[in-house]
Amino acid sequence: MNLYQLLNIKTQNDPDSLLRLLTIVALISIITVVTLGSYGFYQVFSGFVIKSAEVDSVQLCRVLINEQKDLMFVTPPGKKVEIGLHGTEILPFDNRLRAFLAPFNIIKVKIYNPAKQIVYSTDPTLIGKVDSNNRRLAHALSGAVDAKLVTKDKASDLADETLRDVDVVETYVPIVSSDSRIVGSFEIYMNVTQYRAQISHGVRLATSLLGLVMVVVFGFSYVLIRGGTDRLKAAQSQLNIIAITDSLTGIPNRGQLMLRGEEEFERIQRAHNGQRMPLGCIMLDIDHFKQVNDTKGHLAGDQILHGVAQRLKSCLRPYDLIGRYGGEEFVILLPDTALEHSLLVANRLLERMRREPFEAVGLQLSITASLGVTISSETDSSLADIIKRADEAMYKAKKSGRDRVAWMYDPFDAEIHS
Ligand code: GH3
Ligand code: MG
Ligand code: MG
Repeated sequence: MNLYQLLNIKTQNDPDSLLRLLTIVALISIITVVTLGSYGFYQVFSGFVIKSAEVDSVQLCRVLINEQKDLMFVTPPGKKVEIGLHGTEILPFDNRLRAFLAPFNIIKVKIYNPAKQIVYSTDPTLIGKVDSNNRRLAHALSGAVDAKLVTKDKASDLADETLRDVDVVETYVPIVSSDSRIVGSFEIYMNVTQYRAQISHGVRLATSLLGLVMVVVFGFSYVLIRGGTDRLKAAQSQLNIIAITDSLTGIPNRGQLMLRGEEEFERIQRAHNGQRMPLGCIMLDIDHFKQVNDTKGHLAGDQILHGVAQRLKSCLRPYDLIGRYGGEEFVILLPDTALEHSLLVANRLLERMRREPFEAVGLQLSITASLGVTISSETDSSLADIIKRADEAMYKAKKSGRDRVAWMYDPFDAEIHS
């Protein structure tokens, strides 16, 4: 089963399948683009927030190092500068840091020494812990700034108030001493929850706009293609009518008659024994039609053919089949009709032919016809067998004087009815 079968799309001669295909492609495209687009927009918007938190954190760290260097750094005798903050230095540093950070959205600060040990944190329980497997910290200790957005169920701020469901940008910033060595790293947690509504608003707006543009583009294409397929369908149905109609008489041509007749034949073959209803068949041939052409002209002949076809058609039930079988020969198929009733129909047609003259090229012309009648029999292997028998019956009508009905019931038993 291929994709077309899966989506129930007929690819042959069906303009509607083009529209169905377009609709499916449009829906899949819109869903895909809107989903990917919303993810992309989220990345872009949150990327801005992360970047700006990172820039702020780096700035803060610089100012902090500058302002707090007397408390932060020590230079042990004979050694290079390092982060101090042991024992008694922590409290004044903590007080100054909290006062300094109060106006910013910082909820936690950690300071690591090069051994990845926390030498200071606004959360005192963390002081002294070593975070040896932290790759981001290792990154910062090698000189890189690293910021990341995370959502936390719960966090406490600098005033020890518990915050729930907060978006935090965690930034690692290397601490560079005055002699340009990396002597540790800050980890700064900046609360960016206030941007969450803006991010989701921005994502929703951008995604809606994208979706709207796609709907408009596909809608416009649909309307254009719909116009084309409607014209194609109209042309197709016109062609279809032309293909099955006899242009002179306006009734089905031989091909269509045989096609519908075969379907009817198949239907009666399928019927169960006992319930099988016969298919009546009448072959009608206009008498001395050549003379009409010869004496009144070919145009008169054409008009007579049209008149005869229309008159015959008007005498039949809607589900009877009539078609122009040959030049001036017509076949009428009567579904579910026994011989007796088929003969009644044939005689009615004969009567209608006789009753009033036909008008052609301004003349009133009396036209008669010979009709052969038969019904389907169990020995028939196709519709052609039935038509052949009706043709034989029609020749019997011709032979016995024309302007009459003859019938043939069984291939082995012929009789004439007038
Ligand atoms: P019969 O009573 O034995 O049937 O005699 P007939 O003259 O009708 O039979 P025949 O088969 O000899 O002639 C049929 C004529 O029908 C011959 C042909 O010119 C004419 N015919 C066939 N098709 C058309 C058509 O489309 N238009 C016109 N005007 N004449 C046609
Ligand atoms: Mg003929
Ligand atoms: Mg004839």
